[in-house]
Amino acid sequence: MKFDTNCLHAGYKPAGGEPRNIPIIQSTTFRYETSEDMGKLFDLEASGYFYTRLQNPTSDAVAARLCALEGGTAAMLLSSGQAANFFAIFNIASAGDHIVSSASIYGGTYNLFAVTMKRMGISFTFVSPDASEEELAKAMQPNTKALFGETIANPALTVLDIERFAKVAHAHGVPLIVDNTFATPYLCRPFEWGADIVTHSTTKYLDGHAAAVGGAIVDSGNFDWDRYSDKFPGLTTPDDSYHGVTYTKKFGLEGAYITKATVQLMRDFGSTPAPMNSWLLGMGMETLPLRMQKHCANALAVAKFLQGHPNVSWVHYAGLEGDQYYDLAQKYLPKGCCGVVSFGVKGGRSGAERFMAKLELCSIATHVADAKTCVLHPASATHRQMNDEELLAAGVGPDLVRLSVGIEDVNDLIADLARALED
Ligand SMILES: *Cc1c(COP(=O)(O)O)cnc(C)c1O
Repeated sequence: MKFDTNCLHAGYKPAGGEPRNIPIIQSTTFRYETSEDMGKLFDLEASGYFYTRLQNPTSDAVAARLCALEGGTAAMLLSSGQAANFFAIFNIASAGDHIVSSASIYGGTYNLFAVTMKRMGISFTFVSPDASEEELAKAMQPNTKALFGETIANPALTVLDIERFAKVAHAHGVPLIVDNTFATPYLCRPFEWGADIVTHSTTKYLDGHAAAVGGAIVDSGNFDWDRYSDKFPGLTTPDDSYHGVTYTKKFGLEGAYITKATVQLMRDFGSTPAPMNSWLLGMGMETLPLRMQKHCANALAVAKFLQGHPNVSWVHYAGLEGDQYYDLAQKYLPKGCCGVVSFGVKGGRSGAERFMAKLELCSIATHVADAKTCVLHPASATHRQMNDEELLAAGVGPDLVRLSVGIEDVNDLIADLARALED
């Protein structure tokens, strides 16, 4: 089936007399006839539901839908995007290991990597999203376990050269993990360009209505863990906590990574989505193509308006001709560059704050990428833990305003912006 059809139908096919919508299975537990039947589940000898911390039918149906949209082989939902990025890396790296990440990433992810995971003994080297193959190769170490970047970075709106990052990752025998939150699979499918694992904050466009925090991990099934067995023993050697199961042997390259993340990390950390939230996500995904088309068209019109305004010092939107990332966007994002536009208001930090206070329709919110237009000043919110040097490396200046253009009538949005930009 084509993408738009999968948005509505993938992951759930009701039999005669069953609910047309994905049912919300609001149950923590599932009943079995005998202890032996249940024991098989605990040994990973049989598949089935027993406790919602590990798996739930509603969440699995929605994960399967997203898996189809990304073109992957296995997927899981989590309680947040933060949990998704943590699991995606911790599934293949532990104390003593090293990750190379683009510096142009979401502030929360930067904090997770540079502060919290560092405390767990995992070190990170941050590189420019524009790094050449040589520069990327120089950052790789013998203990490097993955390369990480965001398709369209939040909030700097840099566009990742996925093919280049994948090439260097694979030359060093490690996977490329791409956070595809802003692009969504409607605008870009990173697996088609060589990425091995995709993560999402489903809180954003996939849900689309600012209704539920959530995350997801999708595996392409393409990375050959067995070929680099010495680097990824957790996937390729027996797991004592499941009577010696070897994930790549038992679940194949298509299922090993997600199975391990589910039965080890979800079991132990419990970042489980509520079935109701998974259901809201599934509902949101039904209209993803329609919403993304309008987000992209509105954002391009707003970006052009801002570019022509005398009180705006600069505009970043990869869909604008002349933008530094225009050519990469033409390649990776031919259908549009999502709804997020960043720009600088003349007058620096205080100019940005004055502008924000005057907005009426666009609401100030620590949120982005949903149907209603919202606006944020990252230097005083999501990125406030960074010093000026780190802010610059992440591409987030003190005057930067992040505008998440919704699906309202674009004339109302432009009128609100014009009023707030008046002297
Ligand atoms: C929001 C966001 C996250 C974190 O997701 P939560 O759902 O808020 O935990 C991670 N990556 C990107 C690109 C994001 O925009």
